[in-house]
Order: sequence, then structure tokens, then C-alpha cells
Amino acid sequence: MAIEERLLRPLFTAWEGIAQRLRQRCGGRAQSDKVYERQRARCPYLARAKAIRSGARWRKKSEACRRRHPLCAACKAKGRTTEATEVDHIIRLVTLLKQQFGGAPPHIIAKRTPMGAFDDANLPSLCRTCHNQKSALERVTGDAIF
Ligand SMILES: [Zn+2]
Repeated sequence: MAIEERLLRPLFTAWEGIAQRLRQRCGGRAQSDKVYERQRARCPYLARAKAIRSGARWRKKSEACRRRHPLCAACKAKGRTTEATEVDHIIRLVTLLKQQFGGAPPHIIAKRTPMGAFDDANLPSLCRTCHNQKSALERVTGDAIF
């Protein structure tokens, strides 16, 4: 056996272990996404946040933001140049809704748009990869990541 192979084999074995754990974790995440969908259907803040993001006002705002800032802000911070395809809320919509309308009855929350939802300072352009990473982490931590 060549020395290179002897040295490399334990590395490959370790890598297989890591890859297997990652696959298990991704399976776990698919599960927690389902849990998150159920949670969103029950939570008036999560439901309203989804409704705002689905509206024409948000679509136009998102397009305007990406025209002004066409590159992913998170990639740019890491020295990469990536076209932005989405616009993020640094402070999550659900957090803004809870802060400003916390405790209000669901039918009131369902009609409110919180301050900050359409504020340029809260809206960085991101690529899909960075946005998905941030959103997935926020679902776990409940807080803004960057
Ligand atoms: Zn990015």
C-alpha cells in the first residue's frame, strides 16, 4: 500500500462519518420544517408575516431593493460576488409584529403591518443560499443572525 493511501484512508473514513451525520441532520431538518409549517398555521404572527411577504406591496419593494442593491450583502461581506435574488428582513417580520402588536387579538394582528417591514435599513439583498441559511438558523434561535 502506498504511503499516501495509508495516510488518506483514515481521512476518508472520518469524512464518511461526517457525511453520514450530515445526512441524518438534514433528515431531521426536513422533519422540523414540517413542524414549522404546522406552527405557522397556528401562530397569528407567523401567519401575518407570511401574508405580508406574499403581497404585491412586498413584491414591488423587494424588486426595488434589488435594483438598488443587486449583489448579495452576506456574500459581499465574505468577499464573494453573487447576484441577489431575494430581500431579507434583518429584524424578522414575526419579531416586529410581536414587538409592536404583541398580545393583540389574532383578527387585529391579521391586518397590521409593523414599522420596519418596508424600511430600507432593515432590508438587505441576499442570494437564495444565504437567505435560506439565515432563515433556517432564525427558526431555531428566533433571533436575527446578521
Ligand atoms: Zn449570498
